[in-house]
Amino acid sequence: MKQRRKRRKHYNWAEEIAKGNTNAFYNSTDWDIVREKVLNRDKGKCQFFLGNWNDGKHFPDKIKIINADTVHHIIPIKERPDLALDANNCISLSFEAHEIIEERHRWAWRKKKKPLTKERW
Ligand SMILES: [Zn+2]
Repeated sequence: MKQRRKRRKHYNWAEEIAKGNTNAFYNSTDWDIVREKVLNRDKGKCQFFLGNWNDGKHFPDKIKIINADTVHHIIPIKERPDLALDANNCISLSFEAHEIIEERHRWAWRKKKKPLTKERW
């Protein structure tokens, strides 16, 4: 499980994100809590490859049950900072599905040594 040693401080995340402090947000305990809630709600499975969710532009080539390791914001936090901590604006995705949704190329992520565990975009 995740360590929870970070000091609890109350941020106005909508304001911080609007200022561009997205890294601070993704490293925050507030985000950790929502992230875990979303992963639990989605039973830790990638909702894209289950066929439960898509963004209307990208679709799975086949349905498969795989673990989710990323929580994606449906409406990007830069567009709606106020929805950054809204679980209804979040969906559990596998690394693979997230790359598809964010339209990153295969050649770029193959070089990465390990999958990212946090939403960073
Ligand atoms: Zn994303």
